[in-house]
Amino acid sequence: MTDQEHLARVARWLRQARCAVAFTGAGISTESGIPDFRSPGGIWSKSQPVMFEDFLASPQARHEYWRQKSQAHGDFAAAAPNHGHRVLAQWQRQGWLHGVITQNIDGLHQVAGSRRVLELHGTARKIACLGCGARFDPQPLVTRFIETDVVPECPKCGGLLKHATVSFGQGLPPAVLEEAIELSRRCDLFFAMGSSLVVEPAAGLPRLARESGGRLVIVNRQPTGQDPEADVVLHAPIGATLVEIDRLAAGEELGA
Ligand code: ZN
Repeated sequence: MTDQEHLARVARWLRQARCAVAFTGAGISTESGIPDFRSPGGIWSKSQPVMFEDFLASPQARHEYWRQKSQAHGDFAAAAPNHGHRVLAQWQRQGWLHGVITQNIDGLHQVAGSRRVLELHGTARKIACLGCGARFDPQPLVTRFIETDVVPECPKCGGLLKHATVSFGQGLPPAVLEEAIELSRRCDLFFAMGSSLVVEPAAGLPRLARESGGRLVIVNRQPTGQDPEADVVLHAPIGATLVEIDRLAAGEELGA
């Protein structure tokens, strides 16, 4: 089967699906210029990530955390959604897609207009107080840290402030994970894109969808841990691939 025939099949499945879900990893956002933090040249090849328990225990670790996050903040603040994010948001508006599960913390799905976005690793677009739970826009706090080199405290309770992302050594948000599992189990079409699908829960969700009778479509530049299990595998850029599936799916509607 040629790539074009694979794309046509996927477009048909999308139009026939009762419940389609997209799972996205770093690969969708590298097309927006956000570096994959695990890749060579990514942030963790240059500095050690701060473990959550160290963040809680040590003022030096909190300072290092804020230093790294303030550096990375510019990447997120400047990035814009690309074709991949926009096509997924459009499919949601059209009722073709029922949710997005993402490992990304950049918030670009929401900027593109997606509504039901399950952020397994939280969001870098908010700062949260570990004491009282209050949430703040990151920009003023990051700016003040850069100017003063002093780690900020919660203006409401004096508690520790941290980006609303899941740090190394910190558990995934249970309610979000539970909803992602439920959605994966219920869907009959599961798109996995921009993730190597090796570490949990990225590995488990597509498998769960398959075991519950759903079709699995993988779009990724590199081979993934689940390629042998997938119904269709497309080793291609995500944005261009989704634009083409969208074009074919719109044609399906006219033909039906
Ligand atoms: Zn607080």
